[in-house]
Amino acid sequence: MNLTGLLLFLFTIPKEPKLFYGFSGVANAGSHKNGVPKLDRLLGGLLHSGFDERSCLSRYESVQYLKELKRQPSSFLISRLRSYEALHRRCGPHTETYNKTVERFVSENHHEFSDVDGGAECKYVVWIPFSGLGNRILTMTSAFLYAILTGRVLLVDPLDHTPDLFCEPFPGTSWFLPENNPITEDYVSRFGENSPFSYGSMVKNNLIDRFNVVSEKPPFIHLSLTYVMDEYDELFFKDEDQIFLQKIPWLTMTSDEYFIPSLFLMPLFQKDLEKMFPEKDAVFHLLGRYLFHPTNPVWGLITRYHKAYLAGADEKIGIQVRVFEGGPFRHVLDQILTCTKEEKILPPLINQENHPNNDDKNNKKTKVVLITSLSSWYADVIRDMYLLYPTLTGEVIRVLQPSHEEYQKSRDGIHYIKSLAEMYLLGMSDRLVTSGWSTFGYVAQGLGGLRSWVLYKPENFSAPDPPCQPVISMEPCFHLPPLDHTMTVVPYVRPCEDRIRGLKLYPDNQTILKNILNS
Ligand code: GDP
Repeated sequence: MNLTGLLLFLFTIPKEPKLFYGFSGVANAGSHKNGVPKLDRLLGGLLHSGFDERSCLSRYESVQYLKELKRQPSSFLISRLRSYEALHRRCGPHTETYNKTVERFVSENHHEFSDVDGGAECKYVVWIPFSGLGNRILTMTSAFLYAILTGRVLLVDPLDHTPDLFCEPFPGTSWFLPENNPITEDYVSRFGENSPFSYGSMVKNNLIDRFNVVSEKPPFIHLSLTYVMDEYDELFFKDEDQIFLQKIPWLTMTSDEYFIPSLFLMPLFQKDLEKMFPEKDAVFHLLGRYLFHPTNPVWGLITRYHKAYLAGADEKIGIQVRVFEGGPFRHVLDQILTCTKEEKILPPLINQENHPNNDDKNNKKTKVVLITSLSSWYADVIRDMYLLYPTLTGEVIRVLQPSHEEYQKSRDGIHYIKSLAEMYLLGMSDRLVTSGWSTFGYVAQGLGGLRSWVLYKPENFSAPDPPCQPVISMEPCFHLPPLDHTMTVVPYVRPCEDRIRGLKLYPDNQTILKNILNS
């Protein structure tokens, strides 16, 4: 069985009765007929037109499913992306410049300090996978924006199935770190907490003289930007430290944090960022749609699932259930049901106290509810509810769950493929409910450009009141930003709706006004 066959076999077929099958065609597929405008496959110039279409079908097809962008890319962002692509082609793997840089580092002692910055025409930041797939997508995005801001080339360590999931995002080159690279195994094996190569440790142990411009510098520095960041690691977010880091030819990075909101608080980057993203709530929406194109096997899975189960419905509702404490739990189910009822996302059922009015009796609308969760219980209960009782509105509710993996797995390609497919499928919803604190949900919301209803994270095993809230901004949350009160304050960076300790980018007043006028 080939990979595609295996994927189809493994992707659980939803359990709803055959009666509800039979929808065909792709909803929102961008028909060009009858005056309907052709969908913009290049997303307002965000995407480069020069790729071979067949090698990565999702790149130009995804607009048919995820719909058009909710915010247009600025011309400045587009020009920065085109310049970045040119830099990556010039400095990327196997170019003359790349080979020369590697030769130089390999021929010298790796850990030797020197007073030159590698003569470096090309400098690199190497992203190393860490944590779950949602986290990875957000940290790759953060690393990419950091690379653009600092004139570095982003290289992605092809560890742990990343190349099976994502196509190459930059034309005529590769973003994967080739085998021919200067990063030694000794260096990589010591990346964990307190790595002697991390910037934080080097500063803490006085191994570098960061304010002396002519001081000797190491050729490599590791940036450890994870949930265990200490005050020394957090120096990454200081302008002075960035000026020092600019001299280091190779940076490596492990992170599980969407750290972009804090980059907006750094005077060094702020102007550039504000010009690139005049609409601050669209950073991940734009960069995510630019960077992450599922490979053909994953895209096949996504589009076949869409055609088979989602297309043709009058409304697609996504519900992402992420429970960090395990479960399944009754209080989480109650929270979902209360939220979807109070916010009028799902219709109430007929009971002794209510009766449908005559208009509703003829309502033939079908709502398809795509539930994602590691557990099958939530979708099973909700599906049974809507099969056992009619809805007050007369609508037909079709409940689906693509997979139920039971627990989070690592180093498992098929598990990652299912996760990625589900994030994309959720992003195709008309309305979306996500779980607070979950990067899986942030990715779905950002790709789809959706302002989801976020289910607050339950405390003490009970459903919060209110259970959910529609978010103001579709941006992800930086869960653990440095709490540095000397940083600049800007009105568009504020605590996250689902996590007061976190920071998030919000639309400015003009964008809010535009949204109100357009809605
Ligand atoms: P977070 O932990 O919710 O922030 O999201 P991550 O994506 O970083 O990590 C959770 C991982 O658990 C995912 O990447 C999946 O591997 C797995 N997982 C969690 N929820 C789901 C789900 O609803 N569907 C699938 N297929 N996998 C899930």
